[in-house]
Amino acid sequence: MNRRRRRKRIGVGRIVLIAALIIAVVVVAKVAHGASVNRANDASPNSGPADVSEELQAETGAGVVGIRPGAQTAAGPEDGREDGQVFLRPAPQETQEETGSEWPDEPGLAVGPAETEPPAPAIDPSQPMVALTFDDGPSATLTPRLLDILRDNGVHATFFVVGYNLDGNEAILQRAVAEGHEIGNHTMNHPHLRSLGSAELDQEIGAMRQRIVDITGQQVVPIRPPYGETNDTVDAHITDPVILWSVDSRDWADRDVGMACDHIYNDTFDGCIILMHDIHPETVDAAAIFIPWLKEQGYQLVTVSELGQYRSGGLNAGEHYFSIAAPETEAAETAPAETAA
Ligand SMILES: [Zn+2]
Repeated sequence: MNRRRRRKRIGVGRIVLIAALIIAVVVVAKVAHGASVNRANDASPNSGPADVSEELQAETGAGVVGIRPGAQTAAGPEDGREDGQVFLRPAPQETQEETGSEWPDEPGLAVGPAETEPPAPAIDPSQPMVALTFDDGPSATLTPRLLDILRDNGVHATFFVVGYNLDGNEAILQRAVAEGHEIGNHTMNHPHLRSLGSAELDQEIGAMRQRIVDITGQQVVPIRPPYGETNDTVDAHITDPVILWSVDSRDWADRDVGMACDHIYNDTFDGCIILMHDIHPETVDAAAIFIPWLKEQGYQLVTVSELGQYRSGGLNAGEHYFSIAAPETEAAETAPAETAA
């Protein structure tokens, strides 16, 4: 009896196991069939998983077809996509919620090249701008302080340097250029150029120019003749734009922070060139005050070459500049007063 019951129990167990296997096989077969039908319905003709360029070309009114690569493909799992799925990017005319949410971040399918160019300078040519100029340096102590102020305010300036201040200060010029400023030629020895002969002019102008080129690599070196003094003989030795000025801070005469600021507050206009000297501590102290003020007034602070570039398409060699007005408001240029530059 015991034996028989045991056999009977074993027989029932086998039947249950076989039935379970049959159900399992049927389910697997149905699932496999359904998946293949879905693929046949959904996949586009160019459904190769790596054919991204053709997918992008397919971007029409109907939308973009994208294929998530399967685990077996070379795309690998690092892109976080699910395996082997095919899906349709919603067309632009579809509803907002669909277009925004249904397409996951797909860096591999991004349209257009990656942005590699540095951001353009934030100068708006249609807005007011002025050129700050600092003469007679560099100063080993004051010019770096001024460079800090310019950097902290995000503005640029032009430094008209003299030869007798260059030795040992070359790195200051290189820092200035690296930070977007411009170096100008203010001669070797700050002489009255009109009184010099040809050989001396070559030394004061040409040799000094070459010194600046050697230090900075600048191709154009705007020149400011000391005291603003030129004549035809002097000009014949000049191969760069001649930069004079239209606003005199009179920092060289007053040596006073408040007075330097007042001159700039009262006299600054769009396109002007402002004369200052970075060998006076009062000038650097004033710069920390009037530069934020100029920015608040809407002025963009640029180098003289930038002013020329934005306002007239570039500075011309040999031409004398006191200010550069916006093209549509061609204002008369202002001659500088006799002064010490
Ligand atoms: Zn000077």
